[in-house]
Amino acid sequence: MTEIKEKKVEDIKKEADNTVKCPVGKSLYYITEFLNGPMCGRCFPCEMGTYEARIRLERLVNGEGSEADIKALRKIMNYMLTASMCMKGKNTAKYVLEWMDSDVFDSHTKGECPQMECRGHIRYRIRPELCIMCGDCQDVCKFNAILGEKRKPFLSGYLPFEIRQRRCTRCGECIKVCPTGAIVLESRAVFEKTTAPAGK
Ligand code: SF4
Ligand code: SF4
Ligand code: SF4
Repeated sequence: MTEIKEKKVEDIKKEADNTVKCPVGKSLYYITEFLNGPMCGRCFPCEMGTYEARIRLERLVNGEGSEADIKALRKIMNYMLTASMCMKGKNTAKYVLEWMDSDVFDSHTKGECPQMECRGHIRYRIRPELCIMCGDCQDVCKFNAILGEKRKPFLSGYLPFEIRQRRCTRCGECIKVCPTGAIVLESRAVFEKTTAPAGK
């Protein structure tokens, strides 16, 4: 029988640092992996701390976070740092607290992810003037989030492809395959500001 090796906190730290650029995203990655692996649930500060931290971090990543979430997260992590029973819990709290020193956490309560990574703060859009209706983006989208009909030779009347924002998970696969650079990544906050009706 093959033995499934549990990830160590040092491995999770390396993974979070190498996979994600945004400090908020890194913290969520770390906490999620810690919960799925080394967190044994033997002491309350660590168990409660990681569950609660995941909720707060998810809110920030999804664009629903507030200053109250940041305050609560700091309090929970400080408690976890001092009261956890072993170094695994303490090191996890330390990792999140170190990243919380950056202003990036505050930006996430104002609708911005400066690294343009967190799903609640970005959107993908197809620039109609650059779309050649090849359908490559639709083929790679696992979430059926792209509307459009592939162009056939010698036929006209096709419309540029479009991303259905409600279905899009911001996975970024479509942008990698577009041959014309028609898919762009933009800040949701900037998009909402520039498209808001005049006077609002
Ligand atoms: S601090 Fe250590 S003992 Fe306590 S729940 Fe976390 S991993 Fe388990
Ligand atoms: S891959 Fe690019 S060019 Fe092709 S349909 Fe999608 S957006 Fe248009
Ligand atoms: S970002 Fe992902 S989910 Fe969104 S349209 Fe592109 S491939 Fe589909």
